[in-house]
Amino acid sequence: MGRKPEIEVIGAGCAGLGLAAAMAEAGLDEIRLVTKEMPANRPDHIWGFWGEKSLQPAMRLARHHWPRWQIADEMRIITHHSTDHAYHALQASHWLASCQARLDAYEDSCVISQDEAADEVSAAIRFDSRPPQLPTNVLYQHFLGQYVTSDRPIFDPGCALLMDFRCDQSQGMHFIYLLPFSETEALVESTLFTAEIASDEYYRTAIADYLSRFYARASFTITGEEKGALPLCEIAQTPKENEIAIGARGGALRPSSGYGFVFIQRHIAKLMRHYQQTGDWRAQAAHSPLQLWMDRVFLRVIEGQSPDIPSYFVGLAAQLDGASFARFMSGRARWRDLAKVVWAMPPTPFLKAALSLLWRPARKGWVE
Ligand SMILES: Cc1cc2nc3c(=O)[nH]c(=O)nc-3n(C[C@H](O)[C@H](O)[C@H](O)COP(=O)(O)OP(=O)(O)OC[C@H]3O[C@@H](n4cnc5c(N)ncnc54)[C@H](O)[C@@H]3O)c2cc1C
Repeated sequence: MGRKPEIEVIGAGCAGLGLAAAMAEAGLDEIRLVTKEMPANRPDHIWGFWGEKSLQPAMRLARHHWPRWQIADEMRIITHHSTDHAYHALQASHWLASCQARLDAYEDSCVISQDEAADEVSAAIRFDSRPPQLPTNVLYQHFLGQYVTSDRPIFDPGCALLMDFRCDQSQGMHFIYLLPFSETEALVESTLFTAEIASDEYYRTAIADYLSRFYARASFTITGEEKGALPLCEIAQTPKENEIAIGARGGALRPSSGYGFVFIQRHIAKLMRHYQQTGDWRAQAAHSPLQLWMDRVFLRVIEGQSPDIPSYFVGLAAQLDGASFARFMSGRARWRDLAKVVWAMPPTPFLKAALSLLWRPARKGWVE
């Protein structure tokens, strides 16, 4: 295999490929990217995120964006508007191809290897994005989405439906996520926050029921599917001198929502900034301690699977305008936004949840 590389990056996904490209662009070489499967061979899906200045390259590549979005339950529909922080949908394959192209521009800097990563770290520093170990009985955000085409114009391509709780709640917290790409095309996802992963048929039935309830006049052709199960927990790490966990393994997925794209991009930027300022690599936190604590409380409330949970989300959306909601979801909430979030929550279940964390701490995933 020749000389040992200076830098080893394991996994060519959102975090690994993005970091390797950023390193090559910063003039670093002797990078070895170890990957099990090439990006082109991975099942494709969409990354949703709210626009912000630092995400402009991803915003330019996005398939669609929505300046309006909605959160709904049986009682209310809250509509937000923000052109500065419009909701974007980016095809994962397009982003990974753009990271690959950035890396290819510095082809002498990086060797791509499909060998199994060795247990022993042989490089000066290793960045690892292999999936972390997960505890049992942790909540997952699990979902199946269908790309549908209708026989008539029925969708509003200017407005995304981020959470619609007007669907079966018998299995726990469940909502429909609907991204209309045109008047006739949309991604419709059935998403649950529960410990038990549902069968594919469950989500498909939920989507069919939803479409027949709200778009009864149209008939639909299903052109594709995507699915996933994202752990809703923090990831504990034992600091190691020459190894840094990145991506989902590095705890970059937001524990309370599963959103990861924006946090992974910021995490990469933080790692690179620290290196460029000090000439040294150091693990960086992907989320602030306050944000993690709020997420822990929120998840403890969701674990209780109260039938009131949909109204908490709709109540939260009602307290915030589009820009503050986008900042909150993207981990950039200002103090005023946080105060509004706390104000929107019913005190009893949230105080109980916060207190219960004192004697029953949240379960964490871990990285060996
Ligand atoms: C279907 C789906 C939809 C999602 N939607 C959103 C969304 O809308 N918005 C959002 O913000 N986040 C979303 N996420 C969450 C998050 O952004 C993604 O999970 C993101 O891809 C995590 O990046 P990562 O680099 O940690 O993992 P991945 O992108 O999964 O990359 C890990 C890489 O490691 C490789 N690997 C695994 N084992 C080995 C091994 N032994 N050796 C070498 N390589 C290995 C894998 O092949 C893969 O290429 C979604 C996730 C999924 C799965």
